This record gives sequence, structure tokens and C-alpha cells, in this order.
Amino acid sequence: MSESAAALGDSARRAFDLRVRPTEARIDAHALSHNFREARRAAPRSRVMGVVKADGYGHGAAIAAKAFLEAGADWLGVALVEEGLALRNLGITAPILVLGGQYTDYGLLLQHRLTPLVYRPDMLDQLAAAARQRGVAADAHLKLDTGMGRIGALPEELPGLIAHLRGRPEVRITGLCSHFANADLRDPTATRLAMELFVEGRRALLDAGQPLQLSHLANSAATLDLPSSHHDMVRPGLMLYGAVPAPRFAGLADLKPAMSWVTGISHLKHVPAGTPISYGHCWTARRDSVIATLPIGYADGYRRSLTNKAEALLGGRRVKQVGTVCMDMMMIDATDVPGARLGDEVVLLGEQGGERITAQDLADLCDTIPYELFCAIGARVPRVPV
Ligand SMILES: *Cc1c(COP(=O)(O)O)cnc(C)c1O
Repeated sequence: MSESAAALGDSARRAFDLRVRPTEARIDAHALSHNFREARRAAPRSRVMGVVKADGYGHGAAIAAKAFLEAGADWLGVALVEEGLALRNLGITAPILVLGGQYTDYGLLLQHRLTPLVYRPDMLDQLAAAARQRGVAADAHLKLDTGMGRIGALPEELPGLIAHLRGRPEVRITGLCSHFANADLRDPTATRLAMELFVEGRRALLDAGQPLQLSHLANSAATLDLPSSHHDMVRPGLMLYGAVPAPRFAGLADLKPAMSWVTGISHLKHVPAGTPISYGHCWTARRDSVIATLPIGYADGYRRSLTNKAEALLGGRRVKQVGTVCMDMMMIDATDVPGARLGDEVVLLGEQGGERITAQDLADLCDTIPYELFCAIGARVPRVPV
């Protein structure tokens, strides 16, 4: 990058340190720590990894990692090497497992003590070569594919992989892991099979003399609802942020939503009945109305498919989102909140005056899941610890 481009990038980034727009995601670090302790309570005999991939499920990886470590997290889980490096750059020294399987530079992993998953002979070869070059032993967790069909060694590939390990003493398989495809579904068939395959794989590795300190496969759903899957460690993600993988898990732990997503009224106007609002005129006032404009749109992750469906909280009341959600703005019907003024706080996700909008509420309305809703919240929305 040329010097001027670097300087330009810098000043563009710095512009976001200066706050003009009231739109922000407030992150309650106490709620994150509390939820972590709830995961520990659900799996009292296991270690707990706090999964902070995808910028801590959109909550801010730094805030989340610190809150989980404060609550006693044994491990952190990320998807990307880059995410692991970002945590190391913050001075975090806890063990970090890189769950994504795309490593490329194994020396970089060793240098920063990031633990990879291995599940192919070529991965063992590359990790062993990097370890030899540095004169160190390399720890790795072996990933088994027990029915997810994504990454991992298939059960029938395990004997070959174990044989391949024998010639590579630099690599120590200190953990075995897998991932459930269906732990959130009611039908337990696939989940039971995955657990059986996992236990068989574990036996094979122990028989082969691998140190296997940690066997782990439980995500949030299994942490909450499937104690027989807990093994040595659980790997909850979503529940730590105060949401559940499916509505039927609500009530299995005392989870506090950690994010409230708020903005403020940037424009307010009275319009007569019959006035159309926003692109495509997909909404028309049926009565004389007060329409409030909000400085938030789909570029911030407030999905366009929420148009004319979602509610927001204003003055402690539920009000309707109206008219097509734009890139940077959207409108709400403030007619029933007579005291509404420019600058008043509007809650899109979270609590106000005893009313609450949950990630599940919004996700249901736009046909997705809380996971995607959180991750979609854009980079230009500041995450503000509270
Ligand atoms: C994301 C992820 C988790 C956490 O899943 P949740 O459903 O958010 O609890 C655990 N393990 C792996 C491999 C993952 O990718």
C-alpha cells in the first residue's frame, strides 16, 4: 500500500472514532460473563470453551473474549487464523482453538500458539514440517466428521490417519473433536449416531497411544440439553450471547441477552392519511400519522426483509416499522407515542420500559436464525461495552 493510501485508510477509520450517529450496539459484559457461568453450570464436570468467532457473534470479539475469560473460560474458539491473531494482539494468552480448518501457514499457528484441527494426511505433514523447522512439538486436535459433512476425517479414514501419525512424532493429538449437525432438532437419531461414532473414534486414538487430553463436541444446544455429550469440554457459542439455538431451549438456563441495538430519531413529521412512505410506496398511512425517521438501514444489518413487519420500542411502547427499509435509514410509525421528540432513543433489539424485542423475534420475521441476525450487524455500528 502506498503511504498516501495508508494515511487515507487511517483517517477514514479514525472518522468512526468520532460519534455523530446515535446508532450503536450496546454490549453488556456482565451478561456475557453471567451466560458463561450458566454454561459452566450446565456442564459442571467439563471445561468450557467460549466461542468468539465472527467477531463474537457480532458482539465484538474483544469484549466477548475478555468477559468469558473473566468468568473462567478454559479455551477460546475462533473460526479463522486471523481471528486468533487478533485475540493474541490484544494480549490474550489463553489457549485458542481455530475451528475453521483453513490454515495455510502452520508456522504462524505455532508462533502464536493457535491450536489447529487436523483431519487429512497433508495437514499432518505440514504441521509436522513446521514443528520440525522450529524445533518444537505441535499440539493439534483431531477433527472427526460424525455426520456434519463439512470438515473432519470420516470414521473410515481414521485408521489411515492414525497410521500416518506414527511417522510424525512432532505432532501430538491432544484433543478429539466433532460437531453436531442436528443437536437443535427434536429428532435425536442423527445426534445419537454422532455420539456413538465419536466415542468409537476416541477409543481408537487412545488405543493408538495419543495423549488426548480433551474430547469435545457439544455446541450450545448439546451443552443445554445433552449431558451425555459433554465429555471433557463443551463449546457453546450462541447461548453465551444470551440467545438459544431454537425456541424449545429457552428456560434450560438463565440467559441474559447481551446486546441492545439502539438508535435515535433523526427526523419527525406529521403526515395526513394517504401519505405513502419510502421506496416503492409499499406502505401508506391509513390515518393522520407521525412518522419518525431513524439513521439505520440494511447496510447496518437491519434486514430489508423486515420491511413492514418488524416492531421497535419508542417511549416504552411497541411501534411498527413502516415503509421499505433503506440502505442507511428507515421509518417507524410514532403516532401512538405523542411525546416523541427528535433524538429520542429507539430500541431495535433489547428492552425499553418493560417491553422487549429479542433476536429470535427479529430472526423469525425475516426467516433466519439469531446467529445470522447477530453476524449481519454491520462494521459501521459501534459496539459499545456497558
Ligand atoms: C460455531 C461453533 C460452535 C458453537 O456453536 P453454537 O451453536 O453457537 O453453540 C461450536 N463448535 C464449532 C465447530 C462451531 O463452528
